[in-house]
Amino acid sequence: MNKMTLECLAHLENEAFIRTSAIAFLMPLNLSMEDCMEIKTMLAEAVVNAMIHGYEGNHEGIVRVHVSYDENQIEIIVADEGCGIDDISQAMQPLFTSKQHLERSGMGMTIMQTFADDFHITSEKGKGTVVTLRK
Ligand code: ATP
Ligand code: MG
Repeated sequence: MNKMTLECLAHLENEAFIRTSAIAFLMPLNLSMEDCMEIKTMLAEAVVNAMIHGYEGNHEGIVRVHVSYDENQIEIIVADEGCGIDDISQAMQPLFTSKQHLERSGMGMTIMQTFADDFHITSEKGKGTVVTLRK
């Protein structure tokens, strides 16, 4: 088993750093192009959600990303200490967005569910959100 943690301020420009660092960390696994693409996409969706929804664009928030793997499985955890989610099952509905005015499509959760073998989300109003993705 191998693992690492990244901690970044909630600046949207840090999303690319998180995504490419996580993929670099997973290099020893010799992932297929398809798996790499899916991991990058899931990670981007979770990290952007933490930044724009969890912290509502407040750049002082901290986004933590834990990546671990062994020969059988990759686990990615994206955690924020932001506003939390009122109704998780509503948030998971395809096309549901609370930020229509920002032209979000409401597909991030659906994309994560589609690409992950296992997708799990816990959230507490006012405390934050933790998204766990396994592949
Ligand atoms: P898109 O991902 O397509 O740009 P979106 O981010 O609104 O649009 P989802 O990623 O599916 O869509 O998220 C659905 C909703 O869940 C969001 O609109 C938001 O209300 C809520 N949400 C998701 N992640 C978080 C989070 N980390 N903290 C608080 N609310 C969240
Ligand atoms: Mg989203």
